[in-house]
Amino acid sequence: MIKINENYNKLQASYLFSDIAKRVNSFQEQNPDKEIIKLGIGDVTKSLPKACIEAFHKAVDEMDNDSSFRGYGPEQGYDFLREVIAIEDFQSRGADIQADEIFISDGAKCDSGNIQELFSDDIKVAITDPVYPVYLDTNVMAGRSGFYKDGRYEGITYLDTTKENGFVPQLPTEPVDLIYLCFPNNPTGSTISKDELKKWVDYARENKALILYDAAYEAFITDDSLPKSIYEIEGAKEVAIEFRSFSKTAGFTGTRCAFTVVPKECMGYDAEGNKQGLHCLWNRRHCTKFNGVSYPVQKAAEAVYSSEGKKQVKETIDYYMNNAKIIRDEITKLGFDCVGGENSPYIWIDGKKGSWEFFDMLLNEAGVVCTPGAGFGSCGQGYIRISAFNSYENVIEAMGRISKIFS
Ligand code: PLP
Repeated sequence: MIKINENYNKLQASYLFSDIAKRVNSFQEQNPDKEIIKLGIGDVTKSLPKACIEAFHKAVDEMDNDSSFRGYGPEQGYDFLREVIAIEDFQSRGADIQADEIFISDGAKCDSGNIQELFSDDIKVAITDPVYPVYLDTNVMAGRSGFYKDGRYEGITYLDTTKENGFVPQLPTEPVDLIYLCFPNNPTGSTISKDELKKWVDYARENKALILYDAAYEAFITDDSLPKSIYEIEGAKEVAIEFRSFSKTAGFTGTRCAFTVVPKECMGYDAEGNKQGLHCLWNRRHCTKFNGVSYPVQKAAEAVYSSEGKKQVKETIDYYMNNAKIIRDEITKLGFDCVGGENSPYIWIDGKKGSWEFFDMLLNEAGVVCTPGAGFGSCGQGYIRISAFNSYENVIEAMGRISKIFS
C-alpha cells in the first residue's frame, strides 16, 4: 500500500487568491463597464531590462552553433554569474562572500522551500506572522508542526510583527533552532536596521541556531544605512543562509533566476553536537536534485550587473518606487497608518476594520483590488497590502478613486 505523507493533510488550503478572484469576477459581472485596477499582485509589470534581453538573445544564438552550444552546465551555476554576484552584491558592501558560496537556482521560492530538507525533523522553527507562506507550509509538510488550531499551527513559534514592535519581530522568548526573516518584508514592506539584525545574529550565535534570510526585495532599499545583505553584519556568515532573486530586482518572475548563499563557515550540528558545514550539505542536495539554470537565462542575469543593466534596473526600480510613494502619500493623507513603500514595493495599511471588509469596500466603491492582510497570518487581520507593481497611470487613477471614497 502506498502511504501518503499525512503532514500534507494538516495544511490549510490557501483560499486567499481564489477568494480574491471570486469577488473580483462577481464584481465585474455586476459592473461590466467598470475598469478594475489590480494593486494586489506581487508580480512585476515592466519588461526585462534591454541589456538582459540582448544578452539573452545572444546566448540563444550561441545554442544554434555546435561550437558554442552548451549542454548541461554546472549545477551550482556558471562561474561568470557567481563571480559577478560575489563582487557586486556582497564584496562591494563589505560582505566577504566568495563565488563558490553562491548557488544559482530557478527561484527563491523553491530554495527557501527546499532548504529545510537539510535539518532534522525535531528542530523548533520560528516564523513571523504575517509571513510569506512558503516558509510555514514547507515545514508543515516536513512534519515540524502539529495541527492547525485557532489560526495557527501547533509546535511553531510565531514571531508577531505588529505596529507595537514597528513590524520587526522581537527575539523569541522560548528556544528556537531555525529562524525565518525576510527584509524588506513581504507582506508588510518593513525593513530592519543593522542594529536590530545584529541582535538576531548574536542570538543565533549564542544558541547555535540558524537564520534563513530572505532578501528577495533588497533592490528596493534606497536608505543606504539599511543592510541589503545579512552578511553586512559581523558573524552572520557562521549562522545565516541568504536567499536572493532576480524576479523583483530585474523582472525575472517569468524568466526564473535566483541564488542562495551558503557560506562555508555556516554550521549545523549532528545528534552528538559535532559541527557540520551546511555548504557541503546544500551542495550535495543541489547537485542531486537540480540540474542548473539554462545558459541563456544565466547570461541574461549576468547582464543585470553590466553598466547598462545597472542603469536600466535602477530606472525600473525607481519607477515602482515612485508608484509606492504616491500610494503611501495618498493613504497617509486619508488618515490611515501604513508601513512600507519607502524601501519596498509593498505598502501595509491599517484599514481600521476587517481585512476583507476593507477589501470589499475598495473593490465595490473604487474598483481597486488589494490583498487582504489576514491571508498572510492572524497578525495581518485589519490590514491590507497594496503593491506598487503597476503602471504610473493606473496608480494615479486607483488612488484618485480611493480618495473619493473618503472625501
Ligand atoms: N521570497 C519572497 C519574500 C517573495 O515575496 C517571493 C515572491 O513573491 C519570493 C521569495 C519568490 O521569488 P522567486 O520568484 O525567485 O521564486
